[in-house]
Amino acid sequence: MPQDPEIERILQDPKLNDNPLMPVVKRLYDETQEHKRQLQKLMRISDAFDGLTFQENSELREQFGKQLRRLQKIARISDMYQKNMVDMNEQLEYHAQHDLLTDLPNRRFAINRLKELEAIYQRKQTPFCLALIDIDHFKAINDKFGHELGDMVLKVVAKVLKKGARKTDVCSRWGGEEFLLIVPDLALESAEQMVERILHEVRAIPWQTHLPGNNLDFTVINEITFSAGMTVFQTNESFDETIKRADDALYQAKQAGRNCIRIA
Ligand code: GH3
Ligand code: MG
Ligand code: MG
Repeated sequence: MPQDPEIERILQDPKLNDNPLMPVVKRLYDETQEHKRQLQKLMRISDAFDGLTFQENSELREQFGKQLRRLQKIARISDMYQKNMVDMNEQLEYHAQHDLLTDLPNRRFAINRLKELEAIYQRKQTPFCLALIDIDHFKAINDKFGHELGDMVLKVVAKVLKKGARKTDVCSRWGGEEFLLIVPDLALESAEQMVERILHEVRAIPWQTHLPGNNLDFTVINEITFSAGMTVFQTNESFDETIKRADDALYQAKQAGRNCIRIA
């Protein structure tokens, strides 16, 4: 504690010993010194407290930042899971309606489209045609070259069918080596010309180019053909009846020697 040298000197001066004010001055001086000591103590405590709260604050800030970063990470993971779920749902929906081998719309998809077209027909009488297409002697291809190559043949034919149809048509895999082509907004005659053109394209598939690496004599395949039965939806029938008529026409095409189209 810094003393006040001037007051100290006065207090110790023997000449002033008899002065009646001396005890009072001395007491005041002692009390002032004591107050100073207490004030300094308080300042030290206050400084220490300030330092402490600053430290606590920065610890809290750090903890808060950590929690925030953790929450942000959880939110990112949750977003990612949600996006994955949406993607998976879309994939499920796609695969429920498409054929795994050829990637064409499957029978379920085709039936849904037929239901829609049937409903539209009831309101607007918009005609639509069907072509039931069946690859000729497909069993022989499997028997000769194996099921795996048979699968590849199906994929290539499916691609040619899809490319030959219009965007608004549905070219579906009806089952096995059968395909159902749904042709809306086209007269039967024009639809038949389209299927005839597709048949030409299927006959002309260069199999050596499409199935490279298969050490096979493709002259044995020579060409792959299909038979097709076609018809148009009629008033007051259900699409099942239309399909049945297309199937009858397909049977006639097979009976006529295959590689051709018949109309019912
Ligand atoms: P047709 O000219 O009378 O139609 O004769 P086909 O041999 O094509 O007809 P059939 O009904 O006798 O044989 C169809 C064959 O198609 C039998 C079946 O094993 C084969 N098949 C069906 N689905 C698949 C498939 O996904 N992959 C392969 N490789 N073969 C299939
Ligand atoms: Mg068949
Ligand atoms: Mg067949």
